[in-house]
Amino acid sequence: MKPSFNLEDIKATTDPPTYQKAVDLYNKKKIIQFKEELNGYSAVVKGSELYDVYVDMCQCNKGGCNCYLGQHDIFCKHMVAVAIYAVMNGQKLTTQDENITQGPVCGELTKDLTKEEVGAFKKEISCAMKFIKPYTGGSRKWFIYQDSLCKGCYFLSNIVSQLPVSTQSSEILINILLRLDKKLSNGVDDSDGTVGSFMQEIVAILQEYAKINPKCISTFRKLCDKEISFDWSDPLIEIVDEQ
Ligand SMILES: [Zn+2]
Repeated sequence: MKPSFNLEDIKATTDPPTYQKAVDLYNKKKIIQFKEELNGYSAVVKGSELYDVYVDMCQCNKGGCNCYLGQHDIFCKHMVAVAIYAVMNGQKLTTQDENITQGPVCGELTKDLTKEEVGAFKKEISCAMKFIKPYTGGSRKWFIYQDSLCKGCYFLSNIVSQLPVSTQSSEILINILLRLDKKLSNGVDDSDGTVGSFMQEIVAILQEYAKINPKCISTFRKLCDKEISFDWSDPLIEIVDEQ
């Protein structure tokens, strides 16, 4: 059976260096004896030793590996490699498959969005936002919860990087920030700072927007009369004041 995760889900649950090493293992055909089990996949991965790896069918970062990291419940490169194998079934990865972005970047294009495009982006954002949810579980669920926050920020990052510089995109980014601010004061446990640093990155992108297209600054005004719980908005309000 096909796994219920795809490559984007795998990228969202790991960090760029681990993903890159796993891609390398996959490309060099280091995954042998790949077998479909009842609820997951087992394989042997050739590293400095032979590692026995298991990956769950529903959740790519659930499973095990007998390497040092795997024994400490860390989603190691061997598990990532087997998860990739489960998705790709030995087929060649494209450059896009291999690529893993780190954080959001300012879009390269400057153009207005159509109404349809704005709608499509908003829909994608709503899906990504669902991963950033209040924390309800005990300490055992903490890692799963953290994964969910990382995933949400990863998906949002991809969307943000695709936005062209425009007043509509600027408005979309401001709304993302306001929604996240609200979430942080309503039970989202960001003790690792994942969401907080993502918000800082968006603020930095908006500062770039203001330089590229000063019309975007008008969308920052919304921040002046909103109740905001954290201090991320200060640099943007300063830009408005300077005008
Ligand atoms: Zn391992």
